[in-house]
Amino acid sequence: KLGNETVKAELGRAAWRVLHTTFARFPDEPTADESQALKDYIHLFQRLYPCGECAQHFHELLKKFPPQVSSRTSAATWGCHVHNEVNRKLGKDIFDCANIGDFYDCGCADDEAGDKT
Ligand code: FAD
Repeated sequence: KLGNETVKAELGRAAWRVLHTTFARFPDEPTADESQALKDYIHLFQRLYPCGECAQHFHELLKKFPPQVSSRTSAATWGCHVHNEVNRKLGKDIFDCANIGDFYDCGCADDEAGDKT
């Protein structure tokens, strides 16, 4: 467990950014293998998350709200929902998931052309 609240919050912001950006880039029509990979990634992310208290809480959330991996929209909506569950627990504002559309930009729009800049 990280002892310092500032560091824990910084880690959380970085982690949520990686997660939401991953969901925003997930295929609209994933293969079964891609869906399985995302499900495994989320479960391993939880298992290895460095803040023990957070990982424990996230474990309970994953049992209650299993990862939705059938499309980009379902993954992004699911991610927004579980983040809001954490927001609720911490007394933070609830994010409007209708606005998640273009919020998470990876800066890699040309990837599909093979140009990773
Ligand atoms: P964050 O919650 O980090 O959010 C960052 C930004 O994401 C916000 O500024 C906003 O622009 C956007 N955002 C907010 N809500 C949503 C949403 N629903 N969907 C999409 N985008 C959104 N901290 C603890 O103290 N205890 C815990 O148990 C705990 N569990 C965590 C579990 C996980 C899996 C993760 C990744 C983090 C956890 N954290 C926990 C950290 C906590 O969630 C915050 O990251 C941290 O408190 C910093 O909060 P923040 O207000 O800066 O914004």
